[in-house]
Amino acid sequence: MFGAQPMEDSGALFGLLESLFPVRFESRSNNDYDSLAGVVLMHGDRDAANQVSDLGLPVFVVLHDEGTRIPSEGAKVTLTHNSVLPRPMRGQTLEVRESLDVAIVAARTDEVVVAAMQGEPIWVLGWRGGAARHFVGTPLPALAGKDFLYEHVNDKQFICFLPLIQFLRDLTAADAWTPPPIRASFIFDDPNLHWKRYGHVDYREMARHAEKHNYHAAFATVPLDAWFVHRDTADLFRENKGRLSLLVHGNNHVRSELGRSFSEEDALALAAQALRRIAWLERRSGVEVSYVMAPPHGPCSEAMMRGMVRVGFEAACISQGWLRELRRESDCRSRIGLAMSENVAGLHLIPRFGMSSRNFRTRILLAAYLDQPVIPAGHHEDAANGLELLEQLASFLNTLGDVHWMDMKSIVRSNFSMRREKEVLYVKMFSRIIRLKVPEEVKQLCIERPWLNAGAAERLRWREDQTDFKVIDSYGEEPIAIKSGAELEITSVCSGLIHPDNVPGLSPPLWAIARRQFCEVRDRLSPAVGRLLGSSMAKAKSDRLALSELRQRQ
Ligand SMILES: [Zn+2]
Repeated sequence: MFGAQPMEDSGALFGLLESLFPVRFESRSNNDYDSLAGVVLMHGDRDAANQVSDLGLPVFVVLHDEGTRIPSEGAKVTLTHNSVLPRPMRGQTLEVRESLDVAIVAARTDEVVVAAMQGEPIWVLGWRGGAARHFVGTPLPALAGKDFLYEHVNDKQFICFLPLIQFLRDLTAADAWTPPPIRASFIFDDPNLHWKRYGHVDYREMARHAEKHNYHAAFATVPLDAWFVHRDTADLFRENKGRLSLLVHGNNHVRSELGRSFSEEDALALAAQALRRIAWLERRSGVEVSYVMAPPHGPCSEAMMRGMVRVGFEAACISQGWLRELRRESDCRSRIGLAMSENVAGLHLIPRFGMSSRNFRTRILLAAYLDQPVIPAGHHEDAANGLELLEQLASFLNTLGDVHWMDMKSIVRSNFSMRREKEVLYVKMFSRIIRLKVPEEVKQLCIERPWLNAGAAERLRWREDQTDFKVIDSYGEEPIAIKSGAELEITSVCSGLIHPDNVPGLSPPLWAIARRQFCEVRDRLSPAVGRLLGSSMAKAKSDRLALSELRQRQ
């Protein structure tokens, strides 16, 4: 599926696209269009496009060589309301933050403009004999060296990729998987249940604000902080669990805590201690915590990921920058960052981005376009000037369609796509544990786990409507008989799974406790020096008993 010119520099790009879509690219010449599903004309013109269209084939034409150039740096790209675009993209205006060589595409009277830059058409769509004809004035970047496709499909160059990816999506629509709806949550790192506020975050105020402006705020809490729970704050979280929730933030919250090189044993011990402390927090507070890790300061080593998945963490939430660092050496030009989640060392990783990012609109749209959960993340300082930032982000997100705001556990468990063929439902998992309702008239289920390499096996466990689990030790995507309309819970069990209580304990170094106390005091004093000293920290001191009990359980 290729036309007119050899692949040249773009061979790597097309190779990668073959791994993302059920297509195979072939370099063709001499007008050989035999048995093609569609055609990409790299240095095309309208005459060549007409020839392809007359055969009833969809065609994608790069008209970049011709046409007047548009100064692009800092330019605005406007996407129209054309139905060729997915709904969240329609009508959006986005900024191009990098200089690009873009040419104007002249639209004919029977063609419509899909995207314009500075008011000039750069992506035009027409139809001829029922076949779509895309004309673009944007170049296709040549991937080189250790480039990651995501580094190009980002807020800098997204407009170069969007038309081609959309062309391929349309071409393969019949085989397409149905993704989940847009899912979203804010994440704040560091807060705990020691008091009714943490730094600039007032939990009650945020719960009310979240209800009013329709969003969810998840707080990544440090397991070391589990030793004390402020009763009223725990009650507030329980009563507002649709708006406020907790996930896990490291263990002791020391610098680069999860990013160091660990032995398998040490990584397992640290991950197990974190979950034991969190289980203790859940028991004391009655607040359910998502077993999803937000690594402090970003990095997380592969040994640590293996340790986390073995003790029962369902996922980690990690920035795109750190995601790219993970496999830079071993897997160049990886498709990393383009799937609903990544699986590294057995653990699923969900991308997040800074909520105060200047181009947050593009970041949100890209996540939504890639069917990824939308996770703007920040710290209590992001609420220093009130909650306007959250209001701004939530109101933009809520215009994109049916947005499901939820806690991280629910987000992780809805990470799958589906495809139906008569009575058979195909499910592709992007998390280890998923929940779904079986559509009526579906009687069989086939489960795909994209992270398992050929020949690798993981135990599959599932149950219908909260009944007993059924287990297949070695599952190879064969159909499983299921009940129509049932609520299903499916788990892919990692090898070496171990209950955290069965992993030897660790004593936290005293300096780590002191460091964490210092950080908390600093954060709490940040909005108003002295205001909280008399209340939360005095309360914290009075609960030394709880701390010593927690230590015994570690
Ligand atoms: Zn932190």
